[in-house]
Amino acid sequence: MTKKAFQAESRRLLDLMIHSIYTHREIFLRELISNASDAMDKMYYRALTDDQIPFHKDDYLIDIHIDKENRSLRIVDHGIGMTKEELEENLGTIAKSGSQSFKETNEIRDGYDIIGQFGVGFYSAFMVADKVTVLTKSPDSETAYRWESEGTDGYTIEETHKDAHGTEITLIIKENDEEESYDDYLENDRIRQIIKKYSDFIRYPIRLEEETVNSMVPIWRKNKSELTTEDYNNFYSEKHYGFDEPIKYIHTNVDGSIRYRALLYIPESRPFDYYTRDYEKGLELYSNGVLIMEKSADLLPDHFSFVKGLVDSEDLSLNISREMLQHDRQLKFIAKNIRNKIKNELLNLLNENRERYEAFYDAFGRQLKYGVYTDYGVNKEEIQDLLLFQWSKDKKLVTLKEYVENMPEDQSYIYYAAGESAEKIDKSPQVEAAVEKGYPFLYLTEEVDEFAINMLGTYEEKEFRSLAGNDTGLESEEKELDKDLEEESADMLAAMKEHLNDKVQDVRLSKRLRKHPVCLIFEGELSIEMEKILRSMPE
Ligand code: ADP
Ligand code: MG
Repeated sequence: MTKKAFQAESRRLLDLMIHSIYTHREIFLRELISNASDAMDKMYYRALTDDQIPFHKDDYLIDIHIDKENRSLRIVDHGIGMTKEELEENLGTIAKSGSQSFKETNEIRDGYDIIGQFGVGFYSAFMVADKVTVLTKSPDSETAYRWESEGTDGYTIEETHKDAHGTEITLIIKENDEEESYDDYLENDRIRQIIKKYSDFIRYPIRLEEETVNSMVPIWRKNKSELTTEDYNNFYSEKHYGFDEPIKYIHTNVDGSIRYRALLYIPESRPFDYYTRDYEKGLELYSNGVLIMEKSADLLPDHFSFVKGLVDSEDLSLNISREMLQHDRQLKFIAKNIRNKIKNELLNLLNENRERYEAFYDAFGRQLKYGVYTDYGVNKEEIQDLLLFQWSKDKKLVTLKEYVENMPEDQSYIYYAAGESAEKIDKSPQVEAAVEKGYPFLYLTEEVDEFAINMLGTYEEKEFRSLAGNDTGLESEEKELDKDLEEESADMLAAMKEHLNDKVQDVRLSKRLRKHPVCLIFEGELSIEMEKILRSMPE
């Protein structure tokens, strides 16, 4: 039996393949299972279009066998198999995808989930195996063939016997080395875990030593009407999105120029590392039910980083390792849609279930305010109506809209006062004038609050004004200060200023005070509270 060399380019590609295309060796199984699934899709298509070929639904499954003693892992499918020519074409030439040609000649777009397209996935087997044997039979051929290769030095093909059409791929798993424990790929639990992780939603049963491992139809591909809140909540915990019960799930199916499905969750409680650098935002990204990326950060803006879930699209152009996208145009489109959806669903929650919304806000409100501040107000339109602040009217939380709707007619500005707590703010001299006028004000008690409000600048064309600022607009109607009083007090004010040294910029008479003798105010952009925060931050 003569050994055929891989074509020159193929040899180099194979080398590259084994050493650098993929970041995780474990994906070899995803690739082989995807090929098996493609082969069965093709067989299914044949059975539907060719009367000569009977259709047995029960044949459509993928079997995986582990033989520890012989260090072999075997993947068996009942798909379309390969003729000798197809073997030469598809497995003798790297970057030759029979699946891609199949899709093209049969103009397949809908109803089939054929995954293959690049013609390299198969060779990922050499990342974990010293030797790969492919036993295959096509329904168009009497004979079966055995293809065998130990990697870069070429392959052999010989005739053999096999009863039914389909393919069996046997990997002889490498011995352990310092880098990798290849033995793991002969462990039932590890193999099961890899199947669950990448191939859970392959539509044919994947059986490991006779037991079906995959869930097949993913929840997000089912109809909303078939599913209960419990189904959604179960999926949330199965996926380890969180230990809590989600406040809300969002399930969408978009059928436009870029098709995708998304299943998103708003958690109820904050992950323990949420406000730390360790927290990684992102959604899982699937292409045709196969996991491509565990955390696609580009799918979520920072202010919605708390959202958990996934996106599945058949319209992504993947790069060759199928670990990344080739163009981010599709992803950008999906991301934009998704954030709109999240915003609208949060607004719905706010309007329909205030209590739930406030629970959500308690966990993640701070992130929304950071959002306004850290992106310099770019996304304020998107975020401002989701914000809540405690206000002086009844000490409850209000939206900015509610505040504006409740302003007395003669009030021109949205007032706020910053401080440690509502109780402390109430006792401060700055708020006296507003209280006397019956103007409500917002209590800003979190560090980020005043920064976010400053970034908003206005809401519904109403300016925000600090009650500790030098222009509250509350003194406007007051008479000019008594000239005599000013003259009388000049010496005293100068003495006070001198005594306070550099601690204050100026000491003035004021008519804003009622019960208190004195009040600190600020001039310019930074309030006293903000300065305190900035000074306490590490350089
Ligand atoms: P891709 O799946 O991207 O086409 P692969 O390297 O994974 O590339 O596979 C190359 C080709 O080999 C496939 O397109 C297909 O034609 C053929 N092939 C691989 N595995 C099987 C299989 N189990 N049954 C039938 N054909 C297969
Ligand atoms: Mg493939």
